[in-house]
Amino acid sequence: MSRQKIVAGNWKMNKSLQDAKMLVEMITNQVNDFDEVTKIIIPPFPYLNTISEQLAKKENFFLGAQNCHTNANGAFTGEVSANMLNSVGCHYVLVGHSERRQYFKEKEADFVLKIKEALKNNISPIFCVGETIHERKTDNHFKVITEQLTTVLKEFTVTEFSKFIIAYEPVWAIGTGETATAAQAQEMHAFIRGIITDIYDSAIAGNVSILYGGSCNAQNAQELFACKDVDGGLIGGASLNADDFCKIIFSF
Ligand code: PEP
Repeated sequence: MSRQKIVAGNWKMNKSLQDAKMLVEMITNQVNDFDEVTKIIIPPFPYLNTISEQLAKKENFFLGAQNCHTNANGAFTGEVSANMLNSVGCHYVLVGHSERRQYFKEKEADFVLKIKEALKNNISPIFCVGETIHERKTDNHFKVITEQLTTVLKEFTVTEFSKFIIAYEPVWAIGTGETATAAQAQEMHAFIRGIITDIYDSAIAGNVSILYGGSCNAQNAQELFACKDVDGGLIGGASLNADDFCKIIFSF
């Protein structure tokens, strides 16, 4: 996958099916012709199939899932496999989101297995990393991001990594209304590209899309997306409103 401009909307655990269908309709009507941006809709599991059908004929719109299991199938009540996601038309899956780390105690070993399963099923991982406010205030943010990335990426070959999207999501900015400044985002995105250069090489690092996430909205997206190493956004709250999400897409 080559470096792209991407806006992905992570709906988390929100919307009814009726509202979800309407939101997709409103978004696709407004931005369908703006095909220079890859748009990814990441709804809750029960709506994937319906939204997959809605997106099928749209320009540069793709479906993503919020999670997948580490196994291909079996007795794992309540879980969803990457194989199932592929069968309903998913092209992307979130892995390593801070809410999965915090509430579901997922760790790097889980992320590696989930990504392996995703790749086996032709699904690209959107691998999320980010530091807490304590880690930033104690000047440990670069160390934390280095560890989060290297522990997982060392398990993947260049060919496998070429399918990845990285999302930098400072935990202190997710859902808080507090956003990293453009300077903070650019600094960390350039740093992440440096780590990827060290693990693979500079051509690979130059090719990967790195998204910013954390209270990105219609007001601040333009400044964030103007940064050299910011290739787009992973959007939570603001992706639940069609006008806001479309303004973010038009912010490039
Ligand atoms: C997210 O959950 O990935 C996210 C970035 O949320 P928000 O935009 O609401 O901060």
